[in-house]
Amino acid sequence: MRKKRKRGWAGAVFLTALVSVSLAFADPLPAHDLVPRTPNEDSEVLCDHDFCFWQMTEGEMDEDVVWEVLMQPLTVLQGGQRDQVRVRARPEKGCDEYTGVVTCASQGVHVLRQEGDWTLIEAYSSAEEGSRIQVWAERFQGYVETKLLKELPVNDQYGIVIDKLQQRLYVYKEGHLFSTLLCSTGFPRENTPFHETPAGEYAIVSWVGDFWSDGGLFCAKGLRINKGIMLHEVPCVITTDDSGNEKRDYSRCERYLGEKASHGCIRIQKEKTPQGVNAEWLWNNLSRKPVTKVIIWDELGRSLGYPDEDYPLYYNPKGGKNYHSDPNCLLVREKYRPLTEFTWGELEEKPYSGLTPCPGCAPQLRREGIDTVNEKNTR
Ligand SMILES: [Zn+2]
Ligand SMILES: [Zn+2]
Repeated sequence: MRKKRKRGWAGAVFLTALVSVSLAFADPLPAHDLVPRTPNEDSEVLCDHDFCFWQMTEGEMDEDVVWEVLMQPLTVLQGGQRDQVRVRARPEKGCDEYTGVVTCASQGVHVLRQEGDWTLIEAYSSAEEGSRIQVWAERFQGYVETKLLKELPVNDQYGIVIDKLQQRLYVYKEGHLFSTLLCSTGFPRENTPFHETPAGEYAIVSWVGDFWSDGGLFCAKGLRINKGIMLHEVPCVITTDDSGNEKRDYSRCERYLGEKASHGCIRIQKEKTPQGVNAEWLWNNLSRKPVTKVIIWDELGRSLGYPDEDYPLYYNPKGGKNYHSDPNCLLVREKYRPLTEFTWGELEEKPYSGLTPCPGCAPQLRREGIDTVNEKNTR
């Protein structure tokens, strides 16, 4: 039964590929993966789970598959939200060789094989700056004590998917994609590899709130998913004028939404999507108990292709500086809606060449923006 189901799943993926080819003219493709990959395809030990994050095709927005995975309970390690467990190379207490680091309470582990007191697991390493185990955001397998494992039930109304290749956050509601937001995940440089955001499965475990980060940036509405890693509103710089009035300037970080930019946190747009979703909405609407699941697709080994030339975009011929993904974008005044359609292929021509991507409705990036996304993926 198990085997059969699995094959069915692979078959569905194949069929989807065929259908998307045959529908290419009727339903143009957005920017998409050039080569399909699953998180576990290079894994030493594979699993036989029916529905599992580790077997999904990254970046594939098949609602049924995504929802099944989002609804599976999450296996975490017992401990505090700031505690971490070093995962051993061999199933024995005396083993001081470690393969990676897992954060307790919120980070999901992939259970592969139970061997009595020890369990072989898989995860992406959550090692932080200064960690002795220098495995940064890489996928690894290793052993933890079986008694640490705990299963968390998850909320069945909402689930979150973050794609580090697309730099988008997808809100799923009751089995369907509800809204798409722009985000920025960690951007590591050569000497800061610990800034990469680890992929994998997580639970939102704490409504932390507002905090200050490096460089005088103010971050609002922080939701903890992995020790110091939060989902939060795109940061701003706060200034006070001569009469004591506070001004919040988001321009410094907002323009990087849609590409890697942070020190590990996931910055989320503050403007509303056409469905009314933004960082504040997540703060107000997601479930605390049972926990809301967040899955993060890795970008390693993947690259983004261009959308079809006839992929639809929208603008306001009477003015406005942005181009949009939705003819009824909430950032455009009602009297100008619905907006006028043009195509992604025309984006470099007049009068569209001067338009900037809307910070609300997550439109497809320009050719140049997609190139930047791919260039930032060379770790
Ligand atoms: Zn599995
Ligand atoms: Zn818009």
